[in-house]
Amino acid sequence: MTALVEVENLYRYYGIRCAVEDVSFLLERGDVLGFLGPNGAGKTTTMQVIAGSLAPSAGCIRVAGVDLLEHPLAAKAALGYLPENPPLYRELSVDEYLFYCARLNRIPRNEATGAVARVKQRCGLTQMGRRLIGNLSKGFQQRVGIAQAIIHNPKVVILDEPTVGLDPIQIREIRELIRELGEEHAVILSTHILPEVQSVCNRVQIIHQGRLVFSDTVHRMVEHLEITGLLLGLEQPPHADALASLPGVSHIEPLDGHRYRLSLQPGTDSVSAVAAYAVDAGWGLRELTPERRSLEQVFIELTAGEQPSGAVA
Ligand code: ATP
Repeated sequence: MTALVEVENLYRYYGIRCAVEDVSFLLERGDVLGFLGPNGAGKTTTMQVIAGSLAPSAGCIRVAGVDLLEHPLAAKAALGYLPENPPLYRELSVDEYLFYCARLNRIPRNEATGAVARVKQRCGLTQMGRRLIGNLSKGFQQRVGIAQAIIHNPKVVILDEPTVGLDPIQIREIRELIRELGEEHAVILSTHILPEVQSVCNRVQIIHQGRLVFSDTVHRMVEHLEITGLLLGLEQPPHADALASLPGVSHIEPLDGHRYRLSLQPGTDSVSAVAAYAVDAGWGLRELTPERRSLEQVFIELTAGEQPSGAVA
């Protein structure tokens, strides 16, 4: 399968400050990439460069196999972009604005009305055509922003924080729309919301101080979240010393009702050993639940350390 987005050794400087440093990745059809990072990490800069609205300092970007720097018009025709602040004209109606966007994307005049109707249907805007954009709720304005990004049915869709500022129902609807987009397109979406990545994306990249510090599938990331502890429930618990001496156990915290939280030494996989011990010793094993590091903990560990100057905490 050919990659829809190829980014090779991308750098972007602002003066002497390096905002994006040696970023490389590939994206295929069906990929929904969650782009994570703390404030000022370089997400927006990377997305602007891939969207062709900011020149890279060095590196190569291909969109649907077309070199963005050598053939910008052809590459951008395969791209849809929702910037952090959607480029909406508040004084236009939804229909007027989307028709204008269709023409900007070189959809012929006689096909533009059909394209507007299709994208409105896809984005849940069918009843909103005559409404002024400035009078729409934030969630519907965001839908209009997504509609302008996909009206020309691009192969690649780039969405910068698409659910920011929305209420939980709107968030759910926009996420559903993004999932649908991922079926036909390659989608890159930046977000600060970690559960959003787990619910919408199949790939995840974490950027910190301009460098990629993590890049894998969401599935593998969740799978590899290390087991850091065990919840153990026993009918006839032994003395705490016996639990503390179990293989790989570094700490014991007694909980209520003959339950214990066992902390495990890093890199040890003691679940089966603890289970076998408890059964052999006749402790009456009734609960054994592995506890994993959360995605949030992994994110904080990967992005801990010096914040870039100018970053917002
Ligand atoms: P946020 O989550 O806050 O939107 P981000 O990950 O999108 O952050 P960027 O906006 O890409 O980060 O910024 C990366 C770095 O580049 C930051 O240190 C920022 O201050 C700097 N930067 C961004 N735009 C410019 C600019 N036009 N001129 C100078 N520095 C800039």
